[in-house]
Amino acid sequence: MTISDIPTADDFFTSGKELLDFSWDVVAKLLSDIDQAECYGVEPVEISDSYWSAAKRSLTTALSITQQGVEFILKGEIAEVSPFLLIADVPTKWPSPYKGNGISFSEFRTIDAQDLVRVIDTFAGEPLGTDFGKQFHRLREKRNSIMHSVDKRLTVDVSEVVESLLFMHKELFPTESWAAERLKFLESAPDTELGAYEYARNRVCWEMDLAIGLLQPAKVSKYFGIDKTQRRYKCPLCMREANTDAGFEHKLAVLRPKGPGSAQLYCPVCNALYTVVREDCDQKSCPGNVLSDDGECLTCGG
Ligand SMILES: [Zn+2]
Ligand SMILES: [Zn+2]
Repeated sequence: MTISDIPTADDFFTSGKELLDFSWDVVAKLLSDIDQAECYGVEPVEISDSYWSAAKRSLTTALSITQQGVEFILKGEIAEVSPFLLIADVPTKWPSPYKGNGISFSEFRTIDAQDLVRVIDTFAGEPLGTDFGKQFHRLREKRNSIMHSVDKRLTVDVSEVVESLLFMHKELFPTESWAAERLKFLESAPDTELGAYEYARNRVCWEMDLAIGLLQPAKVSKYFGIDKTQRRYKCPLCMREANTDAGFEHKLAVLRPKGPGSAQLYCPVCNALYTVVREDCDQKSCPGNVLSDDGECLTCGG
């Protein structure tokens, strides 16, 4: 065979997830900045409208990049069957194999984004399903109007970006937790070279806290595996891994199953279950009765 640079499924998955992370980074920064409004001496409700209207370009770009990331991941699913299914056109239009230099895969025109779902549903073991198809189509249309026009009426809400990204990630990688994936990205981001590594847990827990606040309970349950109405606790591992110099207040873990006798805590950032001890906290002012196996209170952190 004279074809070189044949992409692997993992190449596409890695690139696709990097783009999802890039989009998340944009919206997470917007959400965390406004969450700190009071530190800047402004009331969040008073600036909210103008804040989000100034963020319009960032939000539409984040949505477009999400779509781009999803396209890469779908190409990865096709490449798992065969990367040659990604080649468009009839053979007479392919680059010539008779010139003697071989052909790089990138010289082939690849199939259009609109056909990706159909190719997967035809060849892959698991079809993507109609719900996915509809969402993908809707996201692609929106991306096209963002990239090819300056429609002033086009608005993208921050929760739309967050929900689209979480929906797509869950559909494409059902066994993964987005929070856990985001942590991996933060732990290998360029600013870890500047000392941000020790704040990666703080950052991811803060971001997920904000996202949970934004979403309806059914979506929280779907994307984070926790019941939004349930009492939440600090995760023993996240608390240990976080930088606690300025405190660590994020509570994302829930008892599983729910109930007074339950002795297991699920953390969506770790995507793991921890055994907990059901004893009263020794701080008088704290009503907590869920302790880590080291005896730290997961309600007050004491
Ligand atoms: Zn955790
Ligand atoms: Zn306590």
